[in-house]
Amino acid sequence: MKLSNIGEFGLIRRFSPAFLKDLPAGVTGIGDDCAVLPWTKGRLLLVTTDLLVEDVHFLKAGIGARDLGYKSLAVNLSDIAAMGGTPLSAFLSIGLPRDMDVPWLDEFFRGFASLARRAKVRLLGGDTTGSPGPLVINVALLGDARRGRVKYRSGAEEGDFICVTGFLGDSGGGLRVLLEDRPLGRDERHLVRSHSRPRAHLAEGAWLAARGGVTAMMDVSDGIDSDLRRIMERSHCGATVDLQAIPVSAPLKRAAEKYGWNAVELAAAGGEDYCLLATVRPSRLAKISAAFARRFGRPLFRIGTIAGPKTGLSYELDGRPAVLKRHGFDHFG
Ligand code: ADP
Ligand code: MG
Repeated sequence: MKLSNIGEFGLIRRFSPAFLKDLPAGVTGIGDDCAVLPWTKGRLLLVTTDLLVEDVHFLKAGIGARDLGYKSLAVNLSDIAAMGGTPLSAFLSIGLPRDMDVPWLDEFFRGFASLARRAKVRLLGGDTTGSPGPLVINVALLGDARRGRVKYRSGAEEGDFICVTGFLGDSGGGLRVLLEDRPLGRDERHLVRSHSRPRAHLAEGAWLAARGGVTAMMDVSDGIDSDLRRIMERSHCGATVDLQAIPVSAPLKRAAEKYGWNAVELAAAGGEDYCLLATVRPSRLAKISAAFARRFGRPLFRIGTIAGPKTGLSYELDGRPAVLKRHGFDHFG
């Protein structure tokens, strides 16, 4: 059996049970956006880490050094946002080929520092080594959250509405612009920027985590087609998504039209959007949506409904079953 037979999540499911046994009370281990540990009387410690590998997560020709520094922190901020937390301190480990340009690295650290400053995160350590091939970047990020104000992937229940905090697919569209070498008009620039400088929805995450009617939350990193399955696993439920309800931005709609892309597939499975996916009790949706729109100046988009156990993930279009051709990102799938 090869890794490609079981995929990224098959592997995690295979090794994680041994490490989930006998966890101390109040500790959440493998399986959510962050690990959660008891910290002070009123606060919980959040820990997350993400690895970026050249030619897997980025092409050095496709992203500027400054953007890459920014993005390597942003993707971790997003996991803190997914729990409803506040980021605190970062650790940065890098594996570098010998012939790396030092000015490139200066720019990388400038990008990292600019987002760290904005997010009030301090870089407290890390590790630096050589790499025989690709550039490798790992960020670990600590954050905290008030006890009782953390949302997990495990709280969704049948009948809950599935919502997202932003447009989906812009980042996937940006990647297509780069890969297909499209001329950079206004729309293309917007898409590429979404791809190289994602905005972690920290304020939205903290706000949603404070709402009792929000039952589960995670960030959209692999595309909702993959990410929703993570909520389904942890919450033991199924889900139905209305393809027409998936929010697609005007720039993505126009670019998709122009280049013959399938905007809905990009939005459902493109990945790297780094907005949040939340499930909300139906009786609380109207109030929460209205308050969200007042607070953030845009809607909390409702895209589907949580279904019963063992029903899987299904899609609908115009009220009829639909099939999604592309699926979310799996490193080995
Ligand atoms: P995220 O995209 O939010 O970082 P993933 O879906 O990639 O999370 O990972 C799922 C869960 O598996 C997370 O809790 C993550 O910490 C854990 N995980 C992934 N790879 C490993 C690993 N090599 N060792 C331990 N835990 C891991
Ligand atoms: Mg995540």
